Amino acid sequence: MTYRRIVAKFGTGLLTSGTDYLDLHVMSSLVEQIARLQRQGKEIVIISSGAIASGRQKLQKVPERKNTPFKQVLASVGQSHLMYTYEQLFSRHEITVAQALLTKEDLCDRGGYLNARNTLLALIELGIICIVNENDVVAVDEIEELKFGDNDNLSAMVANLIDADVLVMLTDIGGLYSADPRCNPQAQLIHRVDEIDAEIERMASGTASRQGAGGMTTKIEAARLATCSGVNVVIAGGREPDILARISQGQDVGTFFPAQANKMESRKRWMLSGLASKGKVTVDKGAVLALKEQNKSLLPAGVIKAEGKFHRGDIVDILDDKGKHVGCGISNYSSS
Ligand code: GLU
Repeated sequence: MTYRRIVAKFGTGLLTSGTDYLDLHVMSSLVEQIARLQRQGKEIVIISSGAIASGRQKLQKVPERKNTPFKQVLASVGQSHLMYTYEQLFSRHEITVAQALLTKEDLCDRGGYLNARNTLLALIELGIICIVNENDVVAVDEIEELKFGDNDNLSAMVANLIDADVLVMLTDIGGLYSADPRCNPQAQLIHRVDEIDAEIERMASGTASRQGAGGMTTKIEAARLATCSGVNVVIAGGREPDILARISQGQDVGTFFPAQANKMESRKRWMLSGLASKGKVTVDKGAVLALKEQNKSLLPAGVIKAEGKFHRGDIVDILDDKGKHVGCGISNYSSS
C-alpha cells in the first residue's frame, strides 16, 4: 500500500532529542524527507509539538512557575521560534510554510471544522506545508472538554479533517511495545494492531512521555479515532533513516493500525470525531446487533440509558452495555 496524503506528527521528545533545545539535526532531516516526498507528489501536513520546549529554551533566565499561565507564556514565546526554525529549514528546499493553531472548540462547531478543512486543503493544493499545533495560549487546562491537551489527539483530528490516507506519529520510541522499552530490555515491538482492546491499552499505559503532554496512551486514543475515520496509522521512531519515505511506500516499520472503515464523507467523519457529540446512549445487545449487522436504525426500546443533555437532532454517541463505542447518530428524541 502506498499513501498520498500524509499527516506527520512530531513529538517534543523527538524534536529535542530529550534535551532542552530543538535538535536542528533531527529537524533538518525530517524537513529534508518531507521536501523529497512533496517533490514526488505526496501531500503532507505536519503536526508539530515543541512550542513549550522552545519557549523554555528562549526564557532560560526567567524562573519557571508551575502554573498554566506560565506554560502558556512558554508556548507563546516558543511557537514563533519553532515556526522560525521550520521556515529556515524549509526555505533551503524552496518550500513555503504556513502555521495553523487550532483548538478543540474551533472544530466542535461544524462551520469551524469546515473552515479549517478548506484552509488546509487549499494550502495543500498550493504546495505549502502547513504546520499545525494546538493554540496553547487559548486552550486552557481547566476546561478539559475544550482542549485536545496533547498533539496525538490533535493529529488524529487533523487526519480526520483532511481525509488523510495515513497518520504517522513519529516519536523517540520506535512504536508500541509490550512494555516500556526504555526500562525493560525484554519489551517486544508490536508490529500490527487490528483491534485496540484492553490488552493494547494496558501495554500502552506503561509508556509515558518524558517531555511532551502525551505518551503511548494518547497515541492509542488517537489511533482509535483515526482508524475509525478511515485513516491508517503508523507509530514509528522518528530518528530512523528515511522513515517517512519508507512509511509512505507501505514498508513494515513501527506499529501499524489498519483503517477500520472505508473512506467516508466529511459529515460522517465529523460526527464520528466525537467533537459534535452532545450525549451518550447505552443500548442493549439486540440493538447493537440491529445497528451493526442489520444496518437498521436505533429504536427507543433498545435504549437502556441516556447521558448528557441533548435535543432532537443532536448527535449522540452509542455505547454497548459494556461501555464500548459502537457508533454515533442523530437522535430523533431529546435526552429526557
Ligand atoms: N502543544 C504543545 C507544544 O507545542 C505540545 C503538546 C504535546 O506534547 O502533545 O509544546
